[in-house]
Amino acid sequence: MTDRYAVFGHPIAHSQSPRIHTLFAEQTGQDMRYQAILAPLDGFGASVQAFIAAGGRGANVTVPFKEEACRLAARLSEPARAAGAVNTLVFDENGIFGDNTDGAGIVRDIRHNLRHEIAGKNVLLLGAGGAARGTVLPLLRENPAQLIIANRTAQKARLLADRFASASASLPAAIAVDPPRLRGCGLTDLAGRRFDIVINATSAGLSDTPLDISDDVFAPNCLAYEMVYGRQTSFMAQARKANAQVSDGLGMLVEQAAAAFYLWRGVQPDTAPVLKALRGA
Ligand code: NDP
Repeated sequence: MTDRYAVFGHPIAHSQSPRIHTLFAEQTGQDMRYQAILAPLDGFGASVQAFIAAGGRGANVTVPFKEEACRLAARLSEPARAAGAVNTLVFDENGIFGDNTDGAGIVRDIRHNLRHEIAGKNVLLLGAGGAARGTVLPLLRENPAQLIIANRTAQKARLLADRFASASASLPAAIAVDPPRLRGCGLTDLAGRRFDIVINATSAGLSDTPLDISDDVFAPNCLAYEMVYGRQTSFMAQARKANAQVSDGLGMLVEQAAAAFYLWRGVQPDTAPVLKALRGA
């Protein structure tokens, strides 16, 4: 029988996930079907339970249900627990397992597709919402020289940095998450600072609002990574003007999907042709 998977969100019509997973399944010969499901805003849990009852084997979760999915899961991976958000669910005889593959997706896109090392680099993460939360631990595992989290609401960035610093006991000893290496601050506290990698994990790009950051944050040969995809944002324009190498978040989307696919099927898809097909479209 064909195994069933889905992505739950609200809205969901724009989702690229069905296309990505269908391409992965064709490429790897997996007998599976993947659909988009619009869950009611007050009915995410019931939608997931109905999907499980109909034979669903796993799911992706997108805005605005990632935190709710975290509460729904009986067991969580370490990245999901650290982020307090789940983007991948597995349904099996042990119940519901929740993982967060967003961080693994962006790290793989930066290292493997864009060929930028994170180890030893000064990294700036803009934003302190769900996407930023999912990215902190996987970035720390790459051992950057410094990871600064900067957010419009400075207090949220400080709380996020503190949360990971206090969880550092569960990290490998090599990752010393002390205050100079991991710090939260406001966007306006960045004056005079330069970074090798700048990741925009804010949603400012969706409304095309310029971010209140100076061009100086982009060091020479900087990688400027915009998590938003499918449009040019003012962050990308500013980074280009400052001579940074610029990437959108399409690679992250495909790589987080590949990590979810591996979790479900135990098969690693080749992301390059899928990314190429999506860029072509
Ligand atoms: P959240 O709503 O959880 O967080 C939004 C963040 O953006 C907050 O830090 C908020 O700051 C900040 N922000 C919003 N507007 C502005 C502005 N005008 N100026 C400065 N900061 C602003 O969203 P998510 O974290 O879930 O998602 C963030 C982005 O990442 C989205 O655009 C999403 O599409 C993208 N994303 C991409 C993925 C991919 O695979 N490529 C995966 C996941 C997310 P404050 O706290 O001050 O409100």
